[in-house]
Amino acid sequence: MSEFCDVALAVPLDMAFTYRVPAEAAPVVGGRVLVPFRQQRMTGIVVELHDRKPSVTAKKIISVLDPAPVLDEKLLRLGRWIADYYLAPIGEVFRTMLPLTAEFKRSIGYRLKDAGQMTLHQAGTSGSSARSRRTPEEQAAEFRVLDYLVARSFEEDGLGVPHVSPLLRDVGTPPDGRELIREETLRSATRVTRAVLAGMVRKKWLAREDVSAPQDATRTVKIAALKTAEGKLNDNQRVLIDTLTGSGGRVPLETLQSLEVPRSTLGTLVRRGMVEIVEAPADFSVSRSKPRSAPFEFELNAAQKSALGRMCESVAARKFSGLLLHGITGSGKTAVYLAAMRGVLEGGRSAILLVPEIGLTPAVAADLHQIFGDEVAILHSALSDKERAEQWHRIKRGGARMVVGTRSAVFAPVADLALIIVDEEHDSSYKQEETPRYHARDIAVVRAKMSNAVVVLGSATPSLESYYNAKKNKYTLVELPDRVEQRPLPEVEIIDMRLEFQETGHEQVISRKLAAEIQDRIEKKEQVMVLLNRRGYSPVVLCRTCGKKLECRDCAIALTHHKREHKMVCHYCGYLAPVPKACVHCGSEYVYFLGTGSEKLEELLHGMFPQARIARLDRDTVRGHEDFERTLNALNEGELDLLVGTQMIAKGHDIHGVTLVGVVGADVALGLPDFRAAERTFQLLTQVAGRAGRGQTPGKVVLQTLFQDHYAVQYAARHDFIGFYEKELQFRSWMHYPPYSALANVLVRSDKLDDALQWSGILGKWFDSTRHEGVRVLGPAAAPIMRLKRDYRYHFVLKSPSREKLNATLRAMLAYAAQQKIPRTQVIVDVDALWLM
Ligand SMILES: [Zn+2]
Ligand SMILES: [Zn+2]
Repeated sequence: MSEFCDVALAVPLDMAFTYRVPAEAAPVVGGRVLVPFRQQRMTGIVVELHDRKPSVTAKKIISVLDPAPVLDEKLLRLGRWIADYYLAPIGEVFRTMLPLTAEFKRSIGYRLKDAGQMTLHQAGTSGSSARSRRTPEEQAAEFRVLDYLVARSFEEDGLGVPHVSPLLRDVGTPPDGRELIREETLRSATRVTRAVLAGMVRKKWLAREDVSAPQDATRTVKIAALKTAEGKLNDNQRVLIDTLTGSGGRVPLETLQSLEVPRSTLGTLVRRGMVEIVEAPADFSVSRSKPRSAPFEFELNAAQKSALGRMCESVAARKFSGLLLHGITGSGKTAVYLAAMRGVLEGGRSAILLVPEIGLTPAVAADLHQIFGDEVAILHSALSDKERAEQWHRIKRGGARMVVGTRSAVFAPVADLALIIVDEEHDSSYKQEETPRYHARDIAVVRAKMSNAVVVLGSATPSLESYYNAKKNKYTLVELPDRVEQRPLPEVEIIDMRLEFQETGHEQVISRKLAAEIQDRIEKKEQVMVLLNRRGYSPVVLCRTCGKKLECRDCAIALTHHKREHKMVCHYCGYLAPVPKACVHCGSEYVYFLGTGSEKLEELLHGMFPQARIARLDRDTVRGHEDFERTLNALNEGELDLLVGTQMIAKGHDIHGVTLVGVVGADVALGLPDFRAAERTFQLLTQVAGRAGRGQTPGKVVLQTLFQDHYAVQYAARHDFIGFYEKELQFRSWMHYPPYSALANVLVRSDKLDDALQWSGILGKWFDSTRHEGVRVLGPAAAPIMRLKRDYRYHFVLKSPSREKLNATLRAMLAYAAQQKIPRTQVIVDVDALWLM
């Protein structure tokens, strides 16, 4: 029996904490424990059991939550790898890996102290506390709290036996009989603010205690259960009893209540002992969607069969290998993934399929259920904490061996992992933009290595890093070079918008050519998509008098005008402001709304094609997967002629009626100070072009651009991935950017400009004064978005051909920052950063 255990807690500190193990407790490595931490209770993961006495007195763990590990040996190892690679606190890594927050309830309680009771007593005798500087309202609030607590402590049965709520029984009642009251209860009974309670704690009138505790996260439903059908019944009672007998004696209460019978009827049956109301664990509703009319079928062409063969061979070898599946848009990658997963399932092993955020629509879920039945667990962002926890336990128990999900599904606790597939591996939603800043594609590769499994990265536009790795033989390159049924890729016509301006004499949103092509498709009853990767109505509001833009209160970002909602919106923090009638800086009335977003484009198209049925797909019209799918279904069923939208319309869906894709202003990113701008633009253009001509009729793309000579535009227009890749690699190599070096962004932020400047200055001097062989440090410089969500931001960009040297430098920098008392949360280290903004 070990005397101590080291526990990883989800706090921003790069360490585990040592606790004493009580005699009766039996914590396990990889299991959760409840521990005291700075006047709080927290759950943590046990990372080591040992007998090394720490230099300071160790506190005792409060309780052991798991008799067996929730993170097995391999996942613990993966967590340590992530903490090391991304320089992330280990406790925060484990919290991300383990979606079990629903099983722990944070809670604070208050207890009356002697001084508090005395105050109340004195107030009762003297009538006032004269020297107080508090307002009468504050005093009244405090006395409400004291009154309530005194009354609660001695109200029961006149003998002074305190009432202890069952939830708090584990906390215990102290000998003086004063009850601990939960914060929510106390505040709702006395209508006081947290600040008032905090003040009373400072005066030692109240004691504040953390009573956070694990709880049962199983979702339950109330069920009516039939005890006996014998007895005389009236008509209403007969309806209920018949419903129950017809459903095997158990029916959800909700169902009975929806019947045309008075509510009191059920109550009568319960009193007569014929029906009992019980609670039962809720079934997990696997899918809320109806299955598709045409069920999924596996009909693979020769290239698909060959790709499937390679994947199955690798799986059968039971050792690590990586495959890059480069399949052009419309080549049928998904069918190959699903066939490979079915093979894994038939072999009795497990597989994980990662999909980008937008890819998990109800229709995809329906396909998955049709193919895998109960063996599939689907993890998406719309799950509640409880549903997520439930799915996690189901996977852990072995109840679902096929896991499909977004980013964090890479941590699914499957046993005997054979295959991980990362669909659309270039998609930036795989990168988590908060601590730990991991990239799920890269974690998939590492996890596959640790599990002797196969990883498949699939895309029509692989990331430069992945394609480079394939060329260096780190991955096997498997190609699907043709569209299914030999359909041709669409012809792309480039429209130079500078020329369009010269010829027409004014700024156009839709060129004459695109307008004519749209008209033609509408007449032929074919469908059109138009991409404009910017939402809202007008992206800029400018004053013609003083020349200033209307910016967000908290960010150095122009507010976007949203016409329908009649609001100005910050797309970075969500800040809302009224639509200005005059300039907020100088009062001038000459405020101009400039530029075009998807909302305005939709309006323009309505004006140009009044007879067309038009819908829009962007984050303002899509709140969840259901909205997304409803619009796509309408397009699929031919209920729409024209779909306008942001990059959402470019993502992997398969609509056969679309024969024309218009691209409006998709090259804005090329003007941004970001070395990945060309790659992103190429990917977006290729993906959206891939939506055209997926049915019988060949497709066409009209690509409007201000950068017609840019290689990203040119190669996308020629569907030439290899050409783009060679050119872009040259640029990356000259500039020492990934994949030729490892890169990290270090961001220093504070809501006080002085702090941000001072801290970045301190770190800048340190980088200068210490030699870091083989590591280039650029900065400090103001971040391209200098202020975001109230924080002022400065950054450093570090590059090195050696990952080890880069990480050693970052680690030393963090240690120095801690020594200089720069708060850990204000220095953000983003290893393999996707955005340098
Ligand atoms: Zn002005
Ligand atoms: Zn903002």
